[in-house]
Amino acid sequence: MHNLTIAELAQGLRAGHFSSLELTQSYLNRIRQHTELNAYITVTEESALQAAKAADIRLSSGDAELLTGIPIAHKDIFCTKGVKTTCASKMLDNFIAPYNATVVDKLNQAGAVVLGKLNMDEFAMGSSNETSFYGTVKNPWDLTAIPGGSSGGSAAAVAAKLAICATGTDTGGSIRQPAAHCGITGLKPTYGRVSRYGMIAYASSLDQGGPMTRSAEDAAILLQAMAGFDEKDSTSLNVPVPDYRSGLNDSLEGLKIGLPKEFFGEGLNNEVAAVLELAINEYRKLGAEIREVSIPTLQYAVPAYYVIAPAECSANLSRFDGVRFGYRCDQPVDLNDLYTRSRGEGFGKEVKRRILMGTYALSAGYYDAYYLKAQKIRRLISDDFKKALSEVDVLMGPVTPTTAFALGEKLSNPIEMYLSDIYTIAINLAGIPAISIPAGFVENKPVGLQIIGNYFSEDRLLNIAHRYQQSTEWHRACPKNFA
Ligand code: GLN
Repeated sequence: MHNLTIAELAQGLRAGHFSSLELTQSYLNRIRQHTELNAYITVTEESALQAAKAADIRLSSGDAELLTGIPIAHKDIFCTKGVKTTCASKMLDNFIAPYNATVVDKLNQAGAVVLGKLNMDEFAMGSSNETSFYGTVKNPWDLTAIPGGSSGGSAAAVAAKLAICATGTDTGGSIRQPAAHCGITGLKPTYGRVSRYGMIAYASSLDQGGPMTRSAEDAAILLQAMAGFDEKDSTSLNVPVPDYRSGLNDSLEGLKIGLPKEFFGEGLNNEVAAVLELAINEYRKLGAEIREVSIPTLQYAVPAYYVIAPAECSANLSRFDGVRFGYRCDQPVDLNDLYTRSRGEGFGKEVKRRILMGTYALSAGYYDAYYLKAQKIRRLISDDFKKALSEVDVLMGPVTPTTAFALGEKLSNPIEMYLSDIYTIAINLAGIPAISIPAGFVENKPVGLQIIGNYFSEDRLLNIAHRYQQSTEWHRACPKNFA
């Protein structure tokens, strides 16, 4: 049962081959058997079983949706009413959200069964899932390697079949990069496509929620339920949501693919490049035309991001002061002691590093030199993507420079860790959508192909990903101990 896709399971549920309760129980069993990955922070067994029973009733009454009765899980950044929502931080270790994120509400309404909350980097800051207060997540393909971050729990759970699909969030690559490292499909939608209401903010102008699944078709189904205007999120865009499944099989004849030369230059591992070349060749066979394009400002994306994201995070995280929100230290002697010890004890090292960088960049006298300059670079990067996407339909390139590196390898070198996001970060700065799909392996570790499109081209990206998955088998590969 756990090898089927959402569409196949939906059929099975309707044909009465199994019930949602049986499906949910089998997933709960797998979660219990595979605690070695550390993918879950909280398992909501009781409410999952209840939701499964309700889904079975809805299925038998005939008014079910595709996701009704399907076991999913949420990144622990989405607020879930009555359930611990930690953002993988000691700061929120005992926080029970009083309301649901819009995404959570929408998936509940669709009848999805929530198995629990998934591990992640603390406050979504990281590329390796090693900054979590609850310990690192392991990569199901190699337990000594990172799963990627920050949605590492989501990627590991989907790859190891501890959930059929999961939600994730992507500020600088956190859906696409762990998806690539764990061999699953991950889509970062256009900024404003999916509501951020109830999604704990890291860098508000970059954060975007999206689906993490085993196939592009499943991503289409999950995105369909997540996307849409939300009046509770002032940056949510009021643009109609298309039917993401209807165009999945459209022909790719004449599709113009641009390969930004900066994505294939120095820094990209040769074996990863060779895998991508084969994937791009597959697109040639499917009728696409390939040409070279350029994003000259790509090299400035990481430095600009590490001014803008920390600046926004320093503002967003100021609410966690031990008074209004978050962990409170023991027996403070005065207000200053309360603030400094609560924040000092509640936040981890990487989060503190970001708050310090951000506060510095925003301080009087440095604002123009750092923050304003970074914003100008952001515009130039965005213009470069616009120009490239006026010459071709989509861009393709790597998601990451290498396959999943070893746990601990980059932990003491933040600059090296930051540079590993070079191919994903620029896309968030531009606000455009991109999808990562499994495209092969290097030494038994998955390699992801990134497909980048214009604003609101999610339907086209899913179509392009789906056609590839129709003619290749990479997305069906399963890590050895999780078959
Ligand atoms: N790795 C990047 C960072 O640490 C991106 C994280 C994310 O997308 N949430 O900021």
